[in-house]
Amino acid sequence: MSTQFVCRNQSCGQPWELSDVVIKNEGQGLLFRCPLCGARNYVERFEDDEGNVLYEQIEGRPLQ
Ligand SMILES: [Zn+2]
Repeated sequence: MSTQFVCRNQSCGQPWELSDVVIKNEGQGLLFRCPLCGARNYVERFEDDEGNVLYEQIEGRPLQ
């Protein structure tokens, strides 16, 4: 099962697979920039029981 994201920019709303985006930390937590509109979309990193890294999109910004 692949992780799927939806751009939070309401006028964009483009769905993306994990393989479509680059997840990085620009100093305010992990995020990807929408390849279409450039909007910041924040994500949280998880590991499952087998050590596979998963990312889940979160609302707004992470609390830090
Ligand atoms: Zn977008």
